[in-house]
Amino acid sequence: MTDQDAHAPARERFLPFGLPSLGEEEIAEVVDTLRSGWIGTGAKCLRFEEEFRQYVGSRHAVSVSSCTAGLHLALVVSGIGPGDEVITSPMTFAATGNVIIHADATPIFADIDPRTLNILPLEIERRITDRTRAVIVVHFGGLPCDMDEIMAIARRHRLVVIEDAAHAVGGRYRGRNVGTLGELASFSFYANKNITTAEGGMVTTDSAAQADCLRAWRLHGLSADAWKRYTSKELILSDVVYPGFKYNMTDLQASLGLWQLRKLERFLAVREEYAALYDRAFAEMEEVALQTRPPSGSGSRHALHLYVLLLDLERLTCSRDEFVSALRRENIGAGIHYTALHLHPYYMKRFKHSRGDFPNAELASDRILSLPLSPAMTPEDVGCVVEVVRRTLRRFRKGRGPR
Ligand SMILES: *Cc1c(COP(=O)(O)O)cnc(C)c1O
Repeated sequence: MTDQDAHAPARERFLPFGLPSLGEEEIAEVVDTLRSGWIGTGAKCLRFEEEFRQYVGSRHAVSVSSCTAGLHLALVVSGIGPGDEVITSPMTFAATGNVIIHADATPIFADIDPRTLNILPLEIERRITDRTRAVIVVHFGGLPCDMDEIMAIARRHRLVVIEDAAHAVGGRYRGRNVGTLGELASFSFYANKNITTAEGGMVTTDSAAQADCLRAWRLHGLSADAWKRYTSKELILSDVVYPGFKYNMTDLQASLGLWQLRKLERFLAVREEYAALYDRAFAEMEEVALQTRPPSGSGSRHALHLYVLLLDLERLTCSRDEFVSALRRENIGAGIHYTALHLHPYYMKRFKHSRGDFPNAELASDRILSLPLSPAMTPEDVGCVVEVVRRTLRRFRKGRGPR
């Protein structure tokens, strides 16, 4: 491209960062559900739960209306409540912190490793008080946290570990799947996640008692759900055993989830292929840094929900926001995941946070951006993103004078 082309966007159509990949199988399954006479929580949710449970290798899986709902329930069934402190990463989506507040507990942030973008075990340990009850780890972008260290700390201090696995379906840590690493895990099937049900989530656990509790809490706290009552020949009366929530998934959503799950390994293979193309293009560029990858042969796998770049602002004449705006003007839908949670107005005001509290998270928060990555993209889309990022980096490079 020459400078004369600079005013026309590099692409005609906007390329969103997390385009869903839905096929005829999903459409047919939804139609089948619509024609079946049962669109609520029923047989398809049960089947999706069973297939998800088998994929992850957990003893139980409970479908819910969102990952946020699942995280909230995970805290509730763990007995987290008023007066309790829950440690989590400031480098996360609002939901991770908000659910701690929904449970009437206090979120306590612990800083991240600036290379992995995951919570640092030593920082967790530093924040533990006699009120600490749980840790919510976030496998950032799909890269599993340092779970051996974290579980050892949790055992020493009798803390519950909950995985925010929103980014990490398909992720693996030293031979074990994400979703089996902590006591409970919550996955997201939001529209732009690795697999989608439009909205939806899944909680995994190895505890039968917790699974029963989750099933009741997700549907008004009833002892028997509507599907059981509908399919039973006997009259089943349902008792309210908890003041539960309305957090159930529907069979319409599960119809999508069943096929998305069956396609997940193929999706991951495409994500890996595209991430490798990005890696090859950006690994040697001084203006950007990449998130750490698990070493090959470690038995760990990055689920590659996000492909992030960290800008070296010292080498550039622009801010991260200007850089992302420049990409978006070229119809490249780069995103920002995330502004560190402790810097959001509500968290600053309520918990008296300010800049300087979590320097590594702030460093990342100021420099990070996510490039489009999804199996719905073509290799040509990836090539176009590479070209535009390269060109934009050149444009904002410091000391770029006439040559
Ligand atoms: C998307 C996301 C959530 C929330 O998922 P929903 O299914 O939309 O509720 C929670 N945590 C992280 C890190 C996320 O990216």
